[in-house]
Amino acid sequence: DEVCHGVGDRSEEESADEMTIFKKIIDKEIPADIVYEDDQCLAFRDVNPQAPVHVLVIPKREIRSLADVVETDRELLGHLLVVASRIAAKLHLHDGYRTVINCGAHGGQTVHHLHIHLLGGRNLDWPPG
Ligand code: AMP
Repeated sequence: DEVCHGVGDRSEEESADEMTIFKKIIDKEIPADIVYEDDQCLAFRDVNPQAPVHVLVIPKREIRSLADVVETDRELLGHLLVVASRIAAKLHLHDGYRTVINCGAHGGQTVHHLHIHLLGGRNLDWPPG
């Protein structure tokens, strides 16, 4: 997959996030408040919630960002959205919610493992900051 190991690494950026915090959560090396899991994805509560419900839905396969997706990721990406929709229903977000994918520096992405934010439980402002 996308992860590079060992002497072949040239980019500092790549080796710096060779193992992201989310990969450690997937591998159960660090704890998370998991709300859903299957063979392709994991969903857990954000440690710094920006709304009463703030869940992150992530693929188990390491994809750095939305900028890195390719055509063959189509089914997986669709699955993540279906899962987000199911979780929103399960968590009673009947008045609506927001899904967000931050991508890259200008998008405010801080963890370089693709994730969908699911935010709800309050009236959310638009446009974002
Ligand atoms: P982003 O800024 O889109 O890359 O979002 C990264 C999100 O991951 C932030 O909302 C963080 O609060 C969240 N986060 C970082 N570390 C953890 C963790 N260990 N468990 C749960 N959420 C985390």
